[in-house]
Amino acid sequence: MIHASLKQLSIALAARSVSSVELTTQFLDRIDALNPALNAFITVDRAAALAQAAAADARLAQGDASPLTGIPLAHKDIFVTRGLRTTCASHMLEHYVSPFDAHVVEQFKAAGAVTLGKTNMDEFAMGSSNETSFFGSVKNPWDTRAVPGGSSGGSAAAVAARLAPMATGTDTGGSIRQPAALCGISGLKPTYGVVSRYGMIAFASSLDQGGPMAKSAEDLALMLNAMAGFDARDSTSLERPKEDYTRDLEQPLAGLRVGVPKEHFGEGLNADVAAAVEAALAEYQKLGAQLVDISLPNSRLSVPAYYVIAPAEASSNLSRFDGVRYGHRAAEYTDLQDMYKKSRAEGFGAEVKRRILIGTYVLSHGYYDAYYLKAQKLRRLIAQDFARAFESCDIILGPTAPSVAFNLGEKSDDPVKMYLNDIYTIAANLAGLPAMSIPCGFGAGGLPVGLHMVGNYFAESRMLNAAHRYQRATDWHTRAPSI
Ligand code: GLN
Repeated sequence: MIHASLKQLSIALAARSVSSVELTTQFLDRIDALNPALNAFITVDRAAALAQAAAADARLAQGDASPLTGIPLAHKDIFVTRGLRTTCASHMLEHYVSPFDAHVVEQFKAAGAVTLGKTNMDEFAMGSSNETSFFGSVKNPWDTRAVPGGSSGGSAAAVAARLAPMATGTDTGGSIRQPAALCGISGLKPTYGVVSRYGMIAFASSLDQGGPMAKSAEDLALMLNAMAGFDARDSTSLERPKEDYTRDLEQPLAGLRVGVPKEHFGEGLNADVAAAVEAALAEYQKLGAQLVDISLPNSRLSVPAYYVIAPAEASSNLSRFDGVRYGHRAAEYTDLQDMYKKSRAEGFGAEVKRRILIGTYVLSHGYYDAYYLKAQKLRRLIAQDFARAFESCDIILGPTAPSVAFNLGEKSDDPVKMYLNDIYTIAANLAGLPAMSIPCGFGAGGLPVGLHMVGNYFAESRMLNAAHRYQRATDWHTRAPSI
């Protein structure tokens, strides 16, 4: 059952041809066997997972199941879970146990999904390769010398290696889509405000958005049905009527206008990735879509704008980790100031410190106008580019990342090189638009390539439809690494 879709699992569980306890045991055994090599999970709680599975079986027997009841799930270790350690892959929170569940965790519990454990990630979601984790890097299941992408690299690797049929992720500048691309799975970042951020440890609050990661668009739709919805505890959560994200999956694509941004096919894009993405565009034409040339002239400014705004918000969000309220406290100190300093110096890794320094700098008196205010103006220009583009197209397609998965260590001492990995994904976060990545072929070294899709606000259903029809016509999303 490890390759089954969520729908197939749901049908098998409802028909009682497999029990949730059996299914959960199968995935837990696979984690035991493969996680030592992949390091995709930070924490696994077998006993708790099996207890939830038994409760799901009881619910299935009573006939009050939802489509996800009894299906195992992995949560990125940025979502707090009551009674189960939440580390955010940081030494700062190495032993932190939350007294409450994140909204997303509650929603999946209510649906009857079974939590297998918490997945590895870049520390506080800062990174594109999963190498900044205090718990060590995750390995890409397609080639364990390569990175899985980041920051939701543990979730991506877990789904790709079939350690879990579905996983949650968060995306501040590409952290769902880029690892999905590098691991050959599907991932969706919803419109900002569609998924509650309550209990999702904050990195850059105006950009952070949780979303689903799974093998196919159909699976993502089923997950999003559980994840999305208004939550009064997140002040930016949107109050909208509940949607069924599976409703448009089968719609034909005839007449779909696909925008192709010229800026995303130029310098910096590797030829193997370009070839796979161009083949996908041709497939969309076969499915009845029409390609429209578009321009996103300010998209080249998205990385610099992001690396001012995201660190600024991070420097403020991470001030709560002071050795008093949460997490690590230095063993020895002279006074209160010294305790703050030592606790933070010991608790945070190098990338997190770099972000806090940049963020504090750009917000400081005298530099605020030159950096932070300027970046906010660029943010507006970037959003306006999309508004103009969506006058002539329904969705925008292009590459998710400039290359296939690079090797561990290859970019870790050059932050700018690392930051440029998100050149195609960051603009959607700055604009608050929904975006996703689906597998569209293989490039150098037989590693997966991701196709990036951006839609207009609340176009999730249409995007899932466009991805699903492509996945019905191709089989890239069914390929699994031979691990
Ligand atoms: N790679 C980007 C960063 O390092 C984005 C991370 C994310 O989306 N959480 O900030």
